[in-house]
Amino acid sequence: MIRENLEIVEKNIVAACEKAGRDRSSVTLIAVSKTKPVSDIRQAMDCGITVFGENKVQEIKDKTEEIKEPLNWHMIGHLQANKVKYLPGRVCMIHSVDNKKLADEVEKQCAKADIVMDVLIEVNMADEETKFGLSKDEVIPFVKEIADNKHMRIRGLMTIAPYTEDPESNRVYFKGLRELKDEINALDIPNVKMDQLSMGMTGDYQVAIEEGATFVRVGTGIFGERNYANIK
Ligand SMILES: *Cc1c(COP(=O)(O)O)cnc(C)c1O
Repeated sequence: MIRENLEIVEKNIVAACEKAGRDRSSVTLIAVSKTKPVSDIRQAMDCGITVFGENKVQEIKDKTEEIKEPLNWHMIGHLQANKVKYLPGRVCMIHSVDNKKLADEVEKQCAKADIVMDVLIEVNMADEETKFGLSKDEVIPFVKEIADNKHMRIRGLMTIAPYTEDPESNRVYFKGLRELKDEINALDIPNVKMDQLSMGMTGDYQVAIEEGATFVRVGTGIFGERNYANIK
């Protein structure tokens, strides 16, 4: 089933790229494997997938211990500062930086590990109470505040759009995130050059690609429905 699902997702990505006049290579599919067993991840690997997303540090630890092949793991979920220390060497990007304490801890831990971590700033575009991320207005001051951190590279913005049956209704948020990225780049903040937009999930990744997504995070559309009872 995973192979068939991946074929459908790939076809949809290609179609969205064509519609938007974009190159397929400008979009990276992140296979979101949270709650799913290593056997599922291996099936996706057999289909050529090398980029995976997880939203819990413990799962990243467990899965990277079990799977030794070189993969690109992305931390896409809400992150507590006290867990950052487990991420250097395990993930290549953190999509969910949204407060100063967390940014300072990423800086501290990555300095200690002598690496530079790629990060995205999470933005709550629809101002949903239930979601993490900065509000739109907070993003530029925040980026200026953390721009000096030498061990993180601020690569762009991430958003989780509202759950909806109608992907078109999220277009406004994807477009808004792209415009915010362009606005930040126009400010020429030292050390800040944003070239990535992480937006679009199973329900709306095609619209997100049309609006400029460089990372789409697809879970259910690849691995099927999640059963949270599987998680310790
Ligand atoms: C779970 C999750 C996804 C994938 O969601 P699907 O709707 O299953 O594609 C994407 N992004 C984040 C941050 C997630 O936590």
